[in-house]
Parts: sequence; structure tokens; C-alpha cells
Amino acid sequence: MISEKMVSLVKNSSVIRAMFEEGKKMAKEFGAENVYDFSLGNPSVEPPKEVKQAILDIVNKEDANLVHGYMSNSGYEDVRAAVASSINAKQATSFHADNIVMTVGAAGGMNVILKTLINPGDEVIAFAPYFGEYNNYVANVDGKLVVVSPNTATFQPNLQELEEKVTERTKAVIINTPNNPTGVVYSEQTIKELADILSRKQKELSTSIYLISDEPYRELAYDGVEVPYITKYYNNTVVGYSYSKSLSLPGERIGYLVLPDELDDAEDIKAAANVANRILGYVNAPSLMQRVIARCLDAKVEVEIYNKNRELLYDALSSYGYECIKPEGAFYLFVKALEEDDKAFAERAKKHNILIVPGSAFACPGYCRIAYCVDYDMIKRSLAGFEALAKEYRG
Ligand code: PLP
Repeated sequence: MISEKMVSLVKNSSVIRAMFEEGKKMAKEFGAENVYDFSLGNPSVEPPKEVKQAILDIVNKEDANLVHGYMSNSGYEDVRAAVASSINAKQATSFHADNIVMTVGAAGGMNVILKTLINPGDEVIAFAPYFGEYNNYVANVDGKLVVVSPNTATFQPNLQELEEKVTERTKAVIINTPNNPTGVVYSEQTIKELADILSRKQKELSTSIYLISDEPYRELAYDGVEVPYITKYYNNTVVGYSYSKSLSLPGERIGYLVLPDELDDAEDIKAAANVANRILGYVNAPSLMQRVIARCLDAKVEVEIYNKNRELLYDALSSYGYECIKPEGAFYLFVKALEEDDKAFAERAKKHNILIVPGSAFACPGYCRIAYCVDYDMIKRSLAGFEALAKEYRG
């Protein structure tokens, strides 16, 4: 008999993954070229060529014991130093190796920092719409996820409601910008106001409230939009970064946490994160990939490929009468469902062989997420279906 906790987790297992499986079934039935699967955020752009070259060079030329061996649970010292220098060069910060913990992607990083900070019953605030896995990450440490409702006019976080929801039990606030599922980039104004509220609340309640910035999409921003670096605005910020999207390496599971010296109890947090990485069973981030990213710190996937997809899809959907905010980052478009029930809308889209994820999976019913990290031609082929779907609703 599996554990009671797992019974409900298995039952509510990811809608997104379920759709992905359904897409594969539909592809068998209708032919792969006739199924338009926009369900999964799996990068469609190839990793930069530097990555492949780095893998070959490391495997062929570096000391095998070093490349494949255990190291400190926080990662190789030289890799952490290289990551810190690279952030400093890009963001004018002053981190050092000691501020970096190499993690098993952003997911690993989130679990490590939550394990480090959260006591059972502590509250963790997230802004809807948010990446649904946060429910599980917070439940893993018996925390309580408190959801701030969406501000559907802009999909910037609802700061007024945040202020009302911070209590003496609030230990952390999670933000994710560029955002999954909306593609919205939180503005500098938003970040400043958010920082003000949290600073004020910390004083009022005599607590430490940690801001966890989950940033797997930092490098995917369009039209020259700036993605503010959060540690500059609020001292109690932890950054979780990942190479899953920036280098198209989601299966390789590599990322890092930034734990600045300015954090309240910084030394304890660094020591605890190191232990959390081990006892959660990660032990350390994949050794080969650590060495690879140290050689590819300035490499980037071809963001223009996603940009082209974004422009095509946004322009087409707008012309068919769909409502959505033009995304400024990531590779998602969050469209208003053409009926109140987003799940029913996603079901109806399936009749046109279009797979999209209901907004309820992101705590934002009434919308659907379209992941446009897919082939450009697939988007083109799908457009007639999107148009027909809109026409069905208009009668
Ligand atoms: N956080 C957000 C907002 C995501 O969208 C994802 C993946 O899609 C993750 C975290 C997990 O990323 P990783 O593959 O780096 O663990």
C-alpha cells in the first residue's frame, strides 16, 4: 500500500503530463503532423553548439575522476566561482563561490530552498497564475501554500492582496518572472513595490520573509525588455536559476541557487542548503553538466526562433478574436478561454487536434496556456483549427 500522501498526489498528478501522453496517443490515431500539441514547456530550439563541444572536450580531455566523481554537495568550487563571476559581470553584483549552490535544475533548487527554510505550517505565498508544481514543492515540506489571486488586467502580481495575506507565519514569497504561464515580465515598478511591502511587513511583524525568485526563463525575453535582478531590490532574496530553457537542457537537470550574504541568517542558510541538497537525495547537481555550464556561461539558445513563434501565434490569435496579453518573455501565451469553463474549452480545442492546458492547472481558471516552444510550421498548420474553434463560439 502506498503512502496516504502519495494516493492523492498520484490522483492529481500533473494535467500537463497527462496531456502530453494524450498527444502521443492522438498522433498515432491522426498522424503526428495533424496533431498540434502545445501542452508541454519542452524547449524546441537546439542547445547552443558550445554545449556539445564542451561535453566532448570535457569527456576527452579532463581528468575522469574529477569529471565523474563526488564533490562538495553544493557543487565544484571552480564552477560555483565561475557562475558567481558571470552573474557579477551581467548584473553588477558581487557574489562569490560561497553564494552559489549548484542544483538539479530549478525544481531541485526550489525543493532545496524550501527544505532549508520551511517549518511545518509555515506559509509560502505564490501569485496566481503560478507553476502548478509549487503546490507539490510546498507540500513536500509540510508548508502551507497561500495563493494571491490573479490580476487579469495585466498579470502583474496583485500586491494589494499580497499585503493582506502576509501574516506572522509567512516565511517565503515565490515569484516567477518571466512567468509561466503568462509570459509576463514583472516590471521594475512591481518589484520595487513588492520589495517595499515585504520590507515593511518584516519590520511590523519582526520576522524574516524570504523572496524566492524562480527564474528558469530569465534569458528568454523579447523586444529588449529588461528582467530586473531581484537581489538588488530586496535583501532577503534567493534566486533559483536553471539551464533547462536558457541552454535547452531540461533532461540534464542543471541549475543553481544564489544565496546572497545579505540574507538574514545567511551563513546558516548556506550550510543548510548544502545539507538539503544531499539529504533530499540529489547529493549534488550532475557533475558533467556542472563542468559543461562553466564553459558555456555566455552561450544562449537562439531566442529569435521563439520570438518568431510568438509573433505568428499572437497576431493570428488576436485576429481571430482571442484575448491575451502579448507575452514579453518565456515561451507561453495565456489566452482567455472562449467560455467560462477552461477545462471544457480545452476539451473542445481537442476536437481540432489542438492540445492546450487549462488555466486551472495554474490556479487561474477561465484561461488556457499555449506553449509555443514548438515547430514554427506546426503553429502554421494549427491556425485553421484555432480559427474554426473561435468561429464555433461566435455561432
Ligand atoms: N519553475 C518554473 C516556473 C518552470 O516553468 C519550470 C519548468 O517548466 C521549473 C521551475 C522547473 O524547471 P527545471 O527543469 O529547471 O527543474
